Amino acid sequence: MRIRDPGATIPGMPHVLPSLPYAYDALAPTIDELTMRMHHGKHHDAYVASLNGALAGTRWADRPVDDLLAGLDELPGPLRAVVREAGGAHANHSLLWESMTPSGGGDPNGRLDLAIADAFGSVGELRRRFNTAADGRPGCGWIWLVHDGTGLAITWTQNHESPLARRHTPLLGVDVWEHAYYLRHQNRRADYLEAFWHVVSWDRVSDRYAKVAA
Ligand code: MN
Repeated sequence: MRIRDPGATIPGMPHVLPSLPYAYDALAPTIDELTMRMHHGKHHDAYVASLNGALAGTRWADRPVDDLLAGLDELPGPLRAVVREAGGAHANHSLLWESMTPSGGGDPNGRLDLAIADAFGSVGELRRRFNTAADGRPGCGWIWLVHDGTGLAITWTQNHESPLARRHTPLLGVDVWEHAYYLRHQNRRADYLEAFWHVVSWDRVSDRYAKVAA
């Protein structure tokens, strides 16, 4: 049996699992190797397969996932439900992998730093609000730093809803499903969120901000 390479395109299966921009063990100890292997190679891969399966043979099969998410209302009901979850999961995880780096951490600078100061007062206050955004939320979801059309905001999406479906531009997202942290941090979600800031790639967040704030 041939093992599929991440990033390889298969005819009729337009959505592909992106390759990680670092090794599976590169983010340890913040995120351990087994969690990364399962999360990227199993969970994310399954979301891509679901999305391709649902879109196969439809006229939306070759549409970029971001376009599908921004235009969910155009899709027929049953397909819309699958794309909201599987497409959201694909887009969210793809953004997450790119938002982390083993040389991450520190503080943002430049225009993003100014925008954060304007919206939240300080980077420390951004972190505090971000880290508590999931408190009291039932079930699984994601915490986001988005540009909502007027400025920066912190939001929560349930399950795998993408900020794109709300016409928000995601700048940074953290997966707070238990599969994202349980092997390393068990039930200590707050520890996972604190540790996440050591691997955040502010350069990538700044790149995204520069595009939306241009
Ligand atoms: Mn996940």
